[in-house]
Amino acid sequence: MNRKESTLGILGGGQLGRMFTCAARTMGYDVVVLDPDPEAPAAHFATRHLCTPFTDAQALNDLARSCSAVTTEFENVPASSLDILASDTVVRPAAQAVAIAQNRILEKTFLQEQGIAVGAFSVARCRESFRHGLTQVGLPAIIKTSRFGYDGKGQYRVDTLEQANDILEREPAMLPVVIEALLPLDLEISVILARSAGDELSFWPVAENRHSQGILDVTLAPARVSGVLAGQAQDTAATIARQLDYVGVMAVEFFVSQGRLLVNEIAPRPHNSGHYTLDACMTSQFEQQVRMLAGLPAGSTEQLRPAVMVNLLGDLWAEGTPPWALLYAEPTLKLHLYGKQDPRPGRKMGHFTVLGTSVEQALGTAEKLRHALRQR
Ligand code: ADP
Ligand code: MG
Repeated sequence: MNRKESTLGILGGGQLGRMFTCAARTMGYDVVVLDPDPEAPAAHFATRHLCTPFTDAQALNDLARSCSAVTTEFENVPASSLDILASDTVVRPAAQAVAIAQNRILEKTFLQEQGIAVGAFSVARCRESFRHGLTQVGLPAIIKTSRFGYDGKGQYRVDTLEQANDILEREPAMLPVVIEALLPLDLEISVILARSAGDELSFWPVAENRHSQGILDVTLAPARVSGVLAGQAQDTAATIARQLDYVGVMAVEFFVSQGRLLVNEIAPRPHNSGHYTLDACMTSQFEQQVRMLAGLPAGSTEQLRPAVMVNLLGDLWAEGTPPWALLYAEPTLKLHLYGKQDPRPGRKMGHFTVLGTSVEQALGTAEKLRHALRQR
């Protein structure tokens, strides 16, 4: 292999980029990371860090020239940057799929066009359509910015018309928005799949997700849902991947609401709810991302042990570094820290995964240890 053939690139060097980079380096690839943050978590493992904005044409050209293929770790990279890269190298997923997943309006419209069930929603681009949309969808509702939202940011729950109007008064630049009905949730689940350029699909077991304040808190895998529901979710995710002509690892978040399966959103990348695959599956979502990018066959997605993953947010650092010895004392636990310097509240700093004999048993151990970490 020459230098370019054995070099992969990634836009974004956060924790997802870091885990991709580790997987790729383990497999013998060089990795070039483009991220404007000098402290980007992936930079510690990258062969080279291009520390520039995602729109820097010179850096994009450098990336395209030095890498045989380039991917992205998050949906908010400008689709135009992916287009620039695509003129000189392989880009997976393609700009057009990322453009849909990064914009809630395009995403919801795309899903509806495919006949895929989503919760009641309305799009508002101005004050009038905002008022109209609220009446149509009803209250309580959740107002979401069309772009750049993540971890519950850029969204507001509203119970009254006054609250809704206040939000628009305070943040008129929030428009255009999606107004969603606040759904009664039985459960949230996610499907992570990989699709090759030759249309081969591989799925990990469906994951069950608990959120706290809009941020993923705990993932249980496999999800405690019927085989029928899990199959239905995987089929829906496969349809989405095919219709987007998606190549790479992709996640679909679902709501189960009053027994109905509804798509919440699409992530054009590996997903936080798939971190359990690092320790519990034959092939992790990051190794598979490398395989799909490099045009290698998919690895087995078989899950070897039931697993529960717990996110570690910056809040845990309020009194200094948490007492990791508590976690290391549990031999079935795997701790992952992302190398971030600034533990802000709500910031994802790391996670741990407990491997168990059943998800219930793993959950019991995980909750006990999380409680102990908070109590210290
Ligand atoms: P993000 O891009 O920040 O992940 P999501 O749209 O996935 O945004 O919302 C984050 C979480 O907020 C969801 O996983 C769910 O727990 C809750 N949520 C979002 N939309 C709704 C809704 N329409 N009804 C009920 N809960 C919701
Ligand atoms: Mg989400």
